Amino acid sequence: MTAATVDVQTDSPAETRALAARLAEESRAGDRIALTGHLGAGKTVFAKGFAEGLGVREVVNSPSFTLMAEYAGRLPLFHQDLYRLAGAEEALAGGLLDERQQTGVTLTEWAERLPAALDPDRLTVAIEIGDGDQRRISVSGDRGREHGRYLDAAADWADRRTGA
Ligand code: ADP
Ligand code: MG
Repeated sequence: MTAATVDVQTDSPAETRALAARLAEESRAGDRIALTGHLGAGKTVFAKGFAEGLGVREVVNSPSFTLMAEYAGRLPLFHQDLYRLAGAEEALAGGLLDERQQTGVTLTEWAERLPAALDPDRLTVAIEIGDGDQRRISVSGDRGREHGRYLDAAADWADRRTGA
């Protein structure tokens, strides 16, 4: 087993954005990241920061009326929001796992709606709401699936934050 989870706490939207931007520096073409957590957890805030880290200049918002939005950066960013998705069949029919994504990084909000079995290589970033502006951000991946870069960057971030 090479699966691992690294927990990072953030105390503000700006901190979540900065963490996401740092993680984006590790991204490579073909990476896919599942963003999970309740409404208002900070998935879109994370996506905005990740886009900044990729050098995207456009404003990133939730792709409410399309399942997927595309932005140009160091790598193309594909931003998906599955909130309104009825089921996995619709996801596949709608091209949610298409070949173009191999050229860039895919961030998927409400990835809970798409069974992990359909996309076993994805990294998961789970955001839990704490007191006030506190969020616990858990980065879960598998070193065997080349998620080590993200796990190490998140662990460095957590260490530096706590002054370790
Ligand atoms: P989601 O996409 O998960 O539904 P959003 O990113 O749209 O959530 O909204 C998150 C909300 O929570 C924003 O209003 C943001 O300002 C607020 N917020 C407060 N603290 C944090 C934090 N530490 N990280 C991210 N967002 C935070
Ligand atoms: Mg959102």
